[in-house]
Amino acid sequence: MPDLQLTLHTTFGYPEFRPLQREIIEASLAGRDVFALLPTGGGKSMCYQLPALHRPGLTVVVSPLIALMKDQVDQLQAAGVAATFLNSSLGSAEARSRLAGLHRGEWRLLYVAPERLMLDGWQENLRAWNVAALAIDEAHCVSEWGHDFRPEYRQLAALRDLLPDVPVMALTATATERVREDIVKHLRLREPELFVASFNRPNLTYRVQPKDGPLQQIIVFLKNRDDESGIVYCATRATTERVAEALAARGFAARAYHAGLTAEERARNQELFLRDEVKIICATIAFGMGINKPNVRWVIHYDLPKNIEGYYQETGRAGRDGLPADCLLLFSGGDAAKQTHFIDEIADEHERNVARAQLRQMLHYAESAGCRRRELLGYFGEGFPAAGGGCGACDNCLEPRETYDGTVLAQKFLSCVYRARQASRFGVGLNHIVEILTGADTDKIRRWGHDRLSTYGIGQELPRAQWAAVGRELLRLGYAAQSEGEYPVLELTAEGLEWLRSRKPLMLTKPMLLPKARKVATRR
Ligand code: ADP
Ligand code: ZN
Repeated sequence: MPDLQLTLHTTFGYPEFRPLQREIIEASLAGRDVFALLPTGGGKSMCYQLPALHRPGLTVVVSPLIALMKDQVDQLQAAGVAATFLNSSLGSAEARSRLAGLHRGEWRLLYVAPERLMLDGWQENLRAWNVAALAIDEAHCVSEWGHDFRPEYRQLAALRDLLPDVPVMALTATATERVREDIVKHLRLREPELFVASFNRPNLTYRVQPKDGPLQQIIVFLKNRDDESGIVYCATRATTERVAEALAARGFAARAYHAGLTAEERARNQELFLRDEVKIICATIAFGMGINKPNVRWVIHYDLPKNIEGYYQETGRAGRDGLPADCLLLFSGGDAAKQTHFIDEIADEHERNVARAQLRQMLHYAESAGCRRRELLGYFGEGFPAAGGGCGACDNCLEPRETYDGTVLAQKFLSCVYRARQASRFGVGLNHIVEILTGADTDKIRRWGHDRLSTYGIGQELPRAQWAAVGRELLRLGYAAQSEGEYPVLELTAEGLEWLRSRKPLMLTKPMLLPKARKVATRR
């Protein structure tokens, strides 16, 4: 093996490899296909940049982010590496000159957008250019199960036939088991060596608050944070502007950022934020990809994110300098209902089901009484030790949620699931159970004769939203299970049946929907 550490030091100026970088580079240089799962900021680029200098021929890097390509190439050139990029931002003379350089074998690294590789003439080019390695950055874009599906990534599979002997490296910061399978399948990786670094971000504290007067909640949160930079993520462009204006009116240096602004406005607001002249950016998820601002001290989610991957990415923009940073999610059942409504409008069935499943997972996270960190890491298939007071840096570990005797409620809910399941051929979903319990007078109830069930109307002591929360907690506890797909149906599990028979007491967590004295996040 060549002296990799020497190259790391002399070319890139770093004394040590980050976790897994060396292993990934060695596997790649040995000719293996590699699948690298490293958290944001983990140093994925190094994994293909450094080996490019240790193999003859060209390393082609596929990246979806045009803005990022130029940054990386500038940095590489400054370090004396012969790197270039080709994308739609170049004039035709410049593009021609770079292509000529590629034909002469002058470059070690070429960055391209995925759609470019499929253009006419490129297949011959790739065969002519002595391609020695292929790196696919943001590989999760190939999967519909990720948070950033890009159809043009699907075409990358064709590269395997075009360049059969070239090892492929797939890199991403987010991949659940499902996304991982998609990446291996759609990029046609061959017995890839898998490298997974820990996703834990120990310096981040995670909190969820019931959303109730969100602007006021943000202002309380901002107390004593005058010097800190932060991001407020909102679901819509209009909200980003409204929140930014409201904060600015109260003397905070805040700006909006969304795809509806002109390119100049976006660039200016981003620049002001990077230079610390604007402290707060109120943004849609269009903001943040590829932005490397190390001292973001907090991230607030004003609205419920669509999925956990997105949430992890967005909160991951806080505390990249390794110093403590806070993440706060403002959660309301109303936001969830709004999203459900949008999801119902999605035309494609598969897409709709994916979105539903992702929303369910997000709700699960928001309502969980367990350690947030364990929930998040569990989502990425990573265990987190639960013992001894938890992680020490999430609301549920720092201030365990109140519980109450939920025995009677659980009995009512689970018996209702049991009876309704028996009484309807196809089973019923959570909302329908809640309607039976609260004695709703709807067409469906009457048509199916559910008003004649013994559990009809036995739950009038709670409003619907609270019954739904009880139901979701029983699902989380494993006493009931929910099928996937278009119309998720509830079913008692063996455990649920066993518990119903045993009639043991059961403590439930006070749902965040219950009115209670609101705790406000304080600075640690
Ligand atoms: P990712 O793509 O995984 O989010 P990057 O490749 O952008 O991360 O790397 C994040 C930062 O870490 C960059 O500034 C990069 O130069 C730096 N970096 C990469 N490898 C090392 C290393 N071994 N030591 C120190 N810094 C590194
Ligand atoms: Zn915790």
